[in-house]
This record gives sequence, structure tokens and C-alpha cells, in this order.
Amino acid sequence: MAIREVREMGDDILTKPCKDVTKMTLRTKILIEDMLDTMYEAMGVGLAAPQVGILKKIVVIDVGEGPVVMVNPEIIESSGEQTGDEGCLSLPGKAGQVTRPNYVKVKALNEEMEEVILEGEGLLARAMCHEVDHLAGKMYVDLVEGELHDVNYEEEEEA
Ligand code: ZN
Repeated sequence: MAIREVREMGDDILTKPCKDVTKMTLRTKILIEDMLDTMYEAMGVGLAAPQVGILKKIVVIDVGEGPVVMVNPEIIESSGEQTGDEGCLSLPGKAGQVTRPNYVKVKALNEEMEEVILEGEGLLARAMCHEVDHLAGKMYVDLVEGELHDVNYEEEEEA
């Protein structure tokens, strides 16, 4: 268990595409535990591996319903629309309006490398889209409608 340094926007690693995880190793299991610790410590709702400097397709999310770990996630279905404030642990203190699907279905592997199908609505769908984008080297700022604005840490959830 360890808290890892969260890379901030401007760091090249956040613009690079991640590689598939081909087998679950002890090192990768420790990475997942550390990502969860780091996300909770920063009071975020999601974290992708490149945010801690690792170019692997791994995402952790917790929107208040318990931890979700997604390895090699792929959005296979989406519907609806939601527009709302979105933030990112790699851009602390900022948020902006982003339109996302209101529902997504994700195909991924779990920590045992078994295929799972996960569904998300509302904030969970938003977090899934945001984190999957990170794995492709994309930041939410490219999707922001209007200007980024400052947020009060105490009140906002960041992904
Ligand atoms: Zn983010």
C-alpha cells in the first residue's frame, strides 16, 4: 500500500496511449492497490494508470458505491446524454462542463483477468468515459464547453 505521485497536465505521459495488460503479475496487483489508495487519498472518484506514470490500461473508480477495477476496458455501448461539471486529479482545482453519455456498457477484465461486463449510469458513466479517455492519452479539457473554472476542493468530486 502506497500513495503514488499524481502526474499533472503538461506531463507528456498523460498524452500517450496505454498498452494492454497481458497478464496479471504481483507488480500489477500492487499498482492497482496503490491506485486505489492514491484515489481515496486525493478524494477522487477515478484514477487511470497513466496518471501515476504507468502506461497500462488500468482504471480504478469509486463513485461512492465501492471500488471498481477495470483492466483493458472498452466502451461497447452508450446511450443518452448528460452535461455537467467534470474535474481531474491531474488538473487540481479546476472543472469544466462536459457532455457525456448518461449510460455506458464496458467490457473489461477484472483483477483475476476474467472478462466482465460493467454498466454505469450518471456519475459512474461519466467516470468510466473520463478514465477510458485517459488510457488513450486524452484529457477531458479537450471536451470542455466554454471555460474551465476554479473549484473549491471541499465541495467538488474529481475524477
Ligand atoms: Zn482524469
